[in-house]
Amino acid sequence: MNATPDPEAPVDAAFARRWLAAATAAVEREAARLTELDSPIGDADHGANMRRGFLAARTAVEQEAPQTPGGVLVLVGRTLISTVGGASGPLYGTLLRRAGKELGEEPAVPVTRLRDALRAGVDGVAQLGGAVPGDKTMLDALLPALDALGGALDAGDGAAKAFAAAAEAAGAGATATTPMRARKGRASYLGERSIGHQDPGATSSALLVEAFAEAAREDA
Ligand code: ADP
Ligand code: MG
Repeated sequence: MNATPDPEAPVDAAFARRWLAAATAAVEREAARLTELDSPIGDADHGANMRRGFLAARTAVEQEAPQTPGGVLVLVGRTLISTVGGASGPLYGTLLRRAGKELGEEPAVPVTRLRDALRAGVDGVAQLGGAVPGDKTMLDALLPALDALGGALDAGDGAAKAFAAAAEAAGAGATATTPMRARKGRASYLGERSIGHQDPGATSSALLVEAFAEAAREDA
């Protein structure tokens, strides 16, 4: 467990656990804000949903102690599906379960494998939810983040720099949902009245991407 991380394959179970710790801390810190964002265009439960899900995921990972990064992501995804009521649980659960399955059983993989796995996971969100860019959903943060991550890695950046770029793009993507009209989920019931409010799911997605940047930074 205390093995020196392989610089060629920095994504190991410890990386995935650092991500989970950072994500759980961010969700706890921002739960009130996520719920506040879910008030005018939703049912004011997004912060509580995410908090419940991530606390349960942290407990599950402590208890089952998966030894591969794929195993950690699959367990977090499965826990979110079973504990988060609401649209976001199955969507985030699908993302993480599919990404984890793509990583397979390997104890450590290069960051390019994680990028490909996350892309497969986000594809799963799009398939399950049927949203496209501009629909004012979590995809409006996740897709720009994936593009930035891929672009940075293709340009030769390391994991820390590439995930920092992804986090910045996710944050900008979340902010950019404010003028959008919601076309999916609860917020779409409001039609025009959904305009002028930042999407809660895009906002929590930016937190989850920022948690990857934190995990990668600690690795450097
Ligand atoms: P609920 O809307 O069921 O109360 P949450 O409040 O936990 O669930 O999550 C709401 C968020 O889920 C939205 O802000 C949006 O980002 C995301 N969401 C809802 N429906 C979809 C969808 N079809 N595709 C992608 N994301 C969606
Ligand atoms: Mg809600």
